[in-house]
Amino acid sequence: MVPRGAFMREPGPASDCGTPVEKERLAMLDTAQFKDRLLGRKHELYRLLHRIESDLEATPNPDAEERATERENDEVLEEIGNTGLGELAAIDAALNRIEAGTFGICPKCGQPISPARLAAVPHAALCEECIKR
Ligand SMILES: [Zn+2]
Repeated sequence: MVPRGAFMREPGPASDCGTPVEKERLAMLDTAQFKDRLLGRKHELYRLLHRIESDLEATPNPDAEERATERENDEVLEEIGNTGLGELAAIDAALNRIEAGTFGICPKCGQPISPARLAAVPHAALCEECIKR
């Protein structure tokens, strides 16, 4: 009896036999998808922070009243900038966890972080239980 496909197959390197363990681990959590989202958000934040920086460096308006308004704006921009920097740090930490293979695991209690939480906040460090505590 001739095996099915015997005539079609060319001898050569087997193509579709990746390491089973790796495949299983990736199937549990689609880290590639989270990595994409995290990197996308990171670039967004970089652009935002860059814009804030150049706004803050802009030469002050010669008009005193205008200057006061600009200062107020600067304070708001700085606040947005600080929030952005915090998020950037959290995103970098999450990307490091993806590289380390610990993404989606709460570092505090060692339990998996719920997929719903990760979907909403991919850079979440702690699980819902630990956040509440
Ligand atoms: Zn936890």
